[in-house]
Amino acid sequence: LHYDIHAWRKCDSTTNQCNPGTFRKLSQACRNRLVQTPTVIMMVGLPARGKTYISRKLARYLHWIGIKTKVFNVGDYRRDAVKGYSGKEFFDPDNAEAVAIRNQCAQSALQDMCNFLQNEGEVAIFDATNTTRERRRTIYTYCTETCCFRVFFVESICDSQEVIQANIREVKLKSPDYKDVPQEEAVKDFLSRIELYEKQYETIDDKIEEKHYPFIKIFNCGERFLVHRIGSNIQSRVLYFLMHIHVLPRTIYLTMHGESEMNVQQRIGGNSSLSPAGKAYTEALVQYITNEKIQDLIVWTSQMEQTISTAANINAPKEQWKALNGIHAGIFEGLTYREVAENYSEEFAARGRSKYYYRYPGGESYHDLVARLEPVIMELERAENLLVITHKSVIRCILAYFLDKNPEQLPYIKVPLHTVIKLTPMAYGCMMGRIPLSVETVNTYRNKPKNCEPNRAVSETLNEFLEVRSEIKTGPTTTQIIYQNAGTAFETTDAKGNRTQRLDS
Ligand code: ATP
Repeated sequence: LHYDIHAWRKCDSTTNQCNPGTFRKLSQACRNRLVQTPTVIMMVGLPARGKTYISRKLARYLHWIGIKTKVFNVGDYRRDAVKGYSGKEFFDPDNAEAVAIRNQCAQSALQDMCNFLQNEGEVAIFDATNTTRERRRTIYTYCTETCCFRVFFVESICDSQEVIQANIREVKLKSPDYKDVPQEEAVKDFLSRIELYEKQYETIDDKIEEKHYPFIKIFNCGERFLVHRIGSNIQSRVLYFLMHIHVLPRTIYLTMHGESEMNVQQRIGGNSSLSPAGKAYTEALVQYITNEKIQDLIVWTSQMEQTISTAANINAPKEQWKALNGIHAGIFEGLTYREVAENYSEEFAARGRSKYYYRYPGGESYHDLVARLEPVIMELERAENLLVITHKSVIRCILAYFLDKNPEQLPYIKVPLHTVIKLTPMAYGCMMGRIPLSVETVNTYRNKPKNCEPNRAVSETLNEFLEVRSEIKTGPTTTQIIYQNAGTAFETTDAKGNRTQRLDS
C-alpha cells in the first residue's frame, strides 16, 4: 500500500477503510516514495501576467504526453457566483462582503481540485492570483498535509507596461466582465483592479518564510527564470516546457508531402517518389507559400524522399528531422491494406479496435509516435514562422497537441493530401485554417471501422477502405477557431475574400 498509488486512492479516509490518521501516515509514506504522487501547480501573479495562458498551455502539453491534467480557474468560479460584474470595487481588499465571496470561490475551486486529484487526476493547476503569503501557506498546508499532494508554484512577474496593456486589450476586454463596456473605460477599470491587488502583493520569498517551497519564477515573458528546489519528474518537465514557450505572434503551416507513388497504390508507410499529381502539388505549394509573404520562414521535412522532394523548390532554409518520419509500420511497411487484411486479419482488426495504442509488429504505435515527437513539439514552441512538410500520422499528433484532442480522436483527425493547414496560436487557443490547393489526388482517409471482430469478412471491412479519387476545387476556405474550454467558431472566406463567422458555442 505504501508504494501503490491506486491502493492509496482507494484508501480514502472518507470510505472508512482506514482512519484519517493512518490515512495521512500512509499517504505521507506514499508521497515520499512515489514518482506518481498527484501534483498541484499553484500559479502566482498579479492580473494580466499570463497565468491563465501558461496554465492552459501547460495543461494541453501534459495532457498530450498522457498525464491527466485539469485547470481550476478561480475567476470562473467567481463569474459563476456573481452574475454581473459591478466594477473594480469588488477586488478591494477592504470590501469585506466581496472578500468573503472571493474566499468562498477559492475554497470551492480548491475542493473540486482535491476531489479531482483524489479520484482520477495526476496534475491540477490552481489558476488564481495567490498573491499573499498567507493564502499560499493555507493552500500549501492543506494540499501537502491533509491531502498529501506535491505542490509547487509558478509565479509570473512582469513589469513591462507595454506587455500588460497589450494583454489587457488582447484578452481582458473580451471577458464577460466587460461585455457592453466601452474599451477605454474597461482598460481603466482593469488597471485599477491591478492596483488593488498590488496593495497586498507579496512575491514568493526565497530567503526566509517561503524558502522551503519548490517554485519557478518567470520574469517578463521568459526573459529570465529563477528556479528553486525543483526536483520531481513533473516539475522538471514543466520547467523544460516553460523555458521553450514564447508569446511572439507566428504562424505554423503544416502539410503532407505531395501524393506519392505509394499513396496511389494504397501502400502503407515507406520512402517513395512523388506521383505526377504529387509533383504538381509541389509547384502549387511554392506558389501558395510565396503569396503568403512569410517573414523568416524555416522549412522542416522528414528524412523521407516524398517530403524532401515536396520542399525542394521552396525558397527558405530547410532542416530534415528523423523524428518527423511517419509512423513505422514494421513488417507491414510497403504492403497494401488489402494484403494486411487478407494475410493478418487479427492484426488488422486489432488496429481498428484501438488505433492509438496498437503497435505494428516490429514497428510503432501512435502512442510511440507522440513520445518520439516530444522534442519536435518543444522546438515548435520555440520556433517562429514555420512550414512543416511531413506525413499524415505525424500531422495528426501535432494537431492533437495544438487542438487538445484525446487519444481516441487523434488517429482519426482528417489530414487530406494537397491541403495546407495553417495554425495561428492565440492567447487561449489556436486558430486553424485548412486551405486545399487545387491539385487532384487520392483520398487516404480511412473511417473508423464499425465492427472490428477478427472473424468479420475481410471483404466487408475492406469496403470501408475503398479508394476514392478526390477532386479538390478552390472554393471557400474554412478557418476553425478553437477556443480552449470556450467552444469553436468557424470562419468562412469566399473567393472574393468576404468573411462570415458561425459560432458553435
Ligand atoms: P487574471 O489574473 O486577470 O486572470 P492572468 O494572469 O491569468 O490574469 P492571462 O489572462 O493569462 O493573465 O493573460 C493572457 C495574456 O498574457 C496573453 O496575451 C499572453 O500573450 C500573455 N502572457 C503569456 N505569458 C506571459 C508572461 N509570462 N508574462 C506576461 N504576459 C504573458
